[in-house]
Amino acid sequence: MRSKGQLIVISGPSGAGKGTVCEALLKKNDFWISVSATTRSPRNAEIEGINYYFISREEFLERIKSKDFLEYAEVYGNCYGTPKSEVLKVLESGRDVILEIDIQGALKVKLAYPNGLFIFILPPSMEELRNRITNRGSETPESLMTRFASAHEEISFVSKYDYAVVNDTVDSACEKIQSIVIAERCRVDRMNGDFLKEEIINE
Ligand code: 5GP
Repeated sequence: MRSKGQLIVISGPSGAGKGTVCEALLKKNDFWISVSATTRSPRNAEIEGINYYFISREEFLERIKSKDFLEYAEVYGNCYGTPKSEVLKVLESGRDVILEIDIQGALKVKLAYPNGLFIFILPPSMEELRNRITNRGSETPESLMTRFASAHEEISFVSKYDYAVVNDTVDSACEKIQSIVIAERCRVDRMNGDFLKEEIINE
């Protein structure tokens, strides 16, 4: 009935908890999450091929030339890109795909794939956002300031998204996103017209 999987694009400011929400979504659903390539160095517990593909800037530029990325962007001085062929293959197989990417990247994807589902994760408050970034302990004081300063600007882009989900608790944010995805699957314009005519209307 559904010809393809749903492309679910999730963005939000640093500290909103996108990563934790995405992890929880993956545990509870048969979603596939795209692993991005980045020129950033790995953080403590990050694993090559699981969190990111860590590549050099030279390789990143080569891959831009070869049109390997669905989208790419420079965020906080590092490059990040979504490998195109894997994402398209999984979508074609009918499985839903999550892209956890920044706003610049999401807006590029929206131009190319307007049928995607664009979800913005918000923190419950700016104070909580500051606490979460600080408590992460993985940022230098400079990067902490940059991320917090960018958060205000990033939040102003929420209107470009289809849905805003406040991450008050991971479980409730997860439930809201699952409900959005289920509702989206029921949209008439995502159904195969032949199925509606032959299986339902002619019954
Ligand atoms: P971090 O360095 O904290 O892992 O990620 C920094 C930002 O880059 C986050 O907002 C994250 O969503 C974004 N990001 C991660 N992968 C990609 C990607 O492939 N493309 C884009 N445009 N942004 C990404």
